[in-house]
Amino acid sequence: MKALLYTGNKTFEIQQTDQQPLQAGQVRLKVAYCGVCGTDVHIYHGNMDKRVQIPQVIGHEVSAEIAEVGPEVTDWQVGDRVAVRPLQPGAVDPSDHGCRHIGKNLKFIGIDTAGGMQQFWNVPAHTLHRLPESLSLQLGALIEPLAVACHDIRLAELLVDEYVVVIGGGPIGMLIALVARQKGAKVLLSEINTARLELATSLGLATVNPKSQDLVATVETFTNGAMADVVFEVSGVQAGVQAMTQLPRARGRIVMVAIHPEPKPVDLFRFFWRELKLIGARVYEPQDFEEAIALAASGELPLESIITEVAPLSHGQQVFEAIDNNPAGLKYLLDCSQD
Ligand SMILES: [Zn+2]
Repeated sequence: MKALLYTGNKTFEIQQTDQQPLQAGQVRLKVAYCGVCGTDVHIYHGNMDKRVQIPQVIGHEVSAEIAEVGPEVTDWQVGDRVAVRPLQPGAVDPSDHGCRHIGKNLKFIGIDTAGGMQQFWNVPAHTLHRLPESLSLQLGALIEPLAVACHDIRLAELLVDEYVVVIGGGPIGMLIALVARQKGAKVLLSEINTARLELATSLGLATVNPKSQDLVATVETFTNGAMADVVFEVSGVQAGVQAMTQLPRARGRIVMVAIHPEPKPVDLFRFFWRELKLIGARVYEPQDFEEAIALAASGELPLESIITEVAPLSHGQQVFEAIDNNPAGLKYLLDCSQD
């Protein structure tokens, strides 16, 4: 079978590899599509070479059909269509406080272990979520990022008619905006990339470009002076961190979605002055996957429009180069079913 291996130095290579024997509790997936995540791009850039094991197959946004069922697996059959929740909880740490999805000893499948950018992939059966027949396998590959959005919105305790500002219109920011709107919130998306702004506008979202417009004044107008009930920081840059404390109402919530690997200055005075709340939100729990699948299957979200390109697995290298060259792109999918 074919696998796309990250070999370091901004390089992916297609290699012919042997299928691994199935362990107890595992299933062998025939991978349909694997989406490229921002994390995969970080790996491509060499930023995570200490964490991955080069050469390694990466990728964790997968839709698939079950090709083989390993020992001790019940509930699943060959041919079942699935999405993968790529979390392998390790030993429970007392500080985990029941949060298995962010446990201290968690391994992220596709980063800490082999990922889905290959034709066949062995995963633990506990990671699987069933996809309904009505949902295409292409949209099935969007379930993982959509589950991130569902988790972020659940932790925000978003209510109908609330005002939401999403800072950053990449794939996750766009999905948060779409899910928040679907749940009855009034959403404003802040983004500096004009192509992404155009896409958001074409999907009927209100937008603001903080490079050319006054962000605080725009939020004031958008909310009739009430300001944002919830702000999602999805940009990962200092300007987003600066903006996030300026936009909420009194006792408004800020949800930290972006990964900020380095400490950044935060206007703590605003937390005191307006009694703001900051909520961290990372990955997802099983119920977020189930909600994402139901939402995707409902057909109520314009999910097709966030797919920028679908390319065969063998074009993996070109796809990562294209992502670097086209910052306006959103979601790229690798078709792993083609020979
Ligand atoms: Zn991802």
